Amino acid sequence: MKLSKRIQKVSESATLAAAQKAKDLKKQGVDVISLTVGESDFPTPEYIDQAAIASIKDHTADHYTAVNGILELRQTIADSYGNHSDHYYTADQVYVGSGVKTVLFNLFQVLLNPGDEVILPVPYWVSFAEQIKMAEGSPVFVQGKEEDGFKLTKEDLDKVYSEKTRAIVLNSPSNPTGMVYSKDELEEIGEWAVEKDVVIIADEIYKRLVYNGREEVSFSDLSSEIREQTIIVDGVSKTYAMTGWRIGYALGNKEVMKALAKYASQANGNPAAVSQYAAIAAYKEEADEVEKMVQSFERRSNEAYQLMKTIPGFYLATKPEGAFYLFPDVSEAAKMTGYESVDEFSLALIEEAHVVSVPGSSFGLADYLRFSYAVEEEVFAEGMKRIKDFIESKL
Ligand code: GLU
Repeated sequence: MKLSKRIQKVSESATLAAAQKAKDLKKQGVDVISLTVGESDFPTPEYIDQAAIASIKDHTADHYTAVNGILELRQTIADSYGNHSDHYYTADQVYVGSGVKTVLFNLFQVLLNPGDEVILPVPYWVSFAEQIKMAEGSPVFVQGKEEDGFKLTKEDLDKVYSEKTRAIVLNSPSNPTGMVYSKDELEEIGEWAVEKDVVIIADEIYKRLVYNGREEVSFSDLSSEIREQTIIVDGVSKTYAMTGWRIGYALGNKEVMKALAKYASQANGNPAAVSQYAAIAAYKEEADEVEKMVQSFERRSNEAYQLMKTIPGFYLATKPEGAFYLFPDVSEAAKMTGYESVDEFSLALIEEAHVVSVPGSSFGLADYLRFSYAVEEEVFAEGMKRIKDFIESKL
C-alpha cells in the first residue's frame, strides 16, 4: 500500500532500532550484549506497583481520565517544584502525557509554525530532530567544544540565532554524553533566551541521575523570568524505573499547557489511568530504594568510565556526570581495525563481538558510539572485554 510522503521523510528511532536488533539476535540464540536503550534494568519499586494494583482492584483506574492527567497527579507534580512555602507552579501549569516522547512531540506541534527554527545542541537525542521536522520546523544544529562536554555558551547561540529562532532544546544531564550544565551555565543560556524571547524546552528527564557530588539543577530553580520562558519536560521513566508505564509531563506556561491538552484531546486521549495512579505514588511516597538506584548508577558510571578508557582507539574527552551513557569518539578504533566508517565498525562489533551500541550518526556525530551502562556491572564489563579482544585481534 502507498504510504504518505510525510512518513517517508521520517527516520526510524536509532535507539529503539538498535535495542530491537539486540533482542532479535538474542531470540536467534546469539549470546549478545545489548548496551543500547537507555532504561533502568531495575524493577519498578514495590511501593509503586502496590499503588497501581490497588487502583485496578478498587476500579479507580477503569475509565478515561482528564485528557491532561488527573488533577491529583498534576498537583503532585506542581508541588514537587519549589519548596513548601513557595511553590513555583500550579496544577494548571502541568500537562501529563504518555511518556516524554509523546509530550515533546505534542509540544513541537503546538509551538512551531512551518519554517520556525529550533536550536539543537549537537550531539542530541535521536528523536528531537525528527520531531521538530515532523512539526515542519527546522532544527538548527550547533556544537559546543568537546573538551567542555559539548556544552553551549551564549556566544555559540549568538552564532546561530536568527529572526526565525523560536526555541532551543536543552537536555541536561545529556543523552547521549552524560554531561551536566552547572547552574551558572544554565543561567547564561536562560538569560540569553529571555533577552531574545526564545522558548527554552528543557528536557530534564535525567535530572535526578547526577553523580559524584554533582549538583542537581533545573531551569525551575533560576529566576522567575527564566522560569516563565521555559517549558520543562520530565517524567517518571528514568528515576523510578518506569519506562514501560509511559508517564511524562510538560510544565510551564498555562496557555501552552491548554494547547497541549487540546492537541491531545484529538491525538492521544489521556495517558493510561493505572500509570497515573502509579506515578502519584512514585512522587508522593518515594522510598529509599529510589536513592539506592541512583547510587547504583553512580557506581556503574564510574566503573564503566574506567573500563572504557582501557579500550584502544576509544576516546572520551570528559568524564560523564549524569544520565547513564558513555559517548566515546571511536573513529581511531575504526581506523585501526580497517573499517571505513564508525557505522561499519559498529556493525562489525555486533556481528563479530556480539556487542550492540547505538551509532553516533543518529545523534549528529558520526565518529561516535553510544553505550548505555544501565545494565549489571558484569554485563558491561563483559561487553568491554569483547570489544577490546575484537580490536586487538585485528591489529
Ligand atoms: N531515551 C531512551 C534512549 O535514548 C529511550 C529510547 C528512546 O526513546 O529513544 O535510549
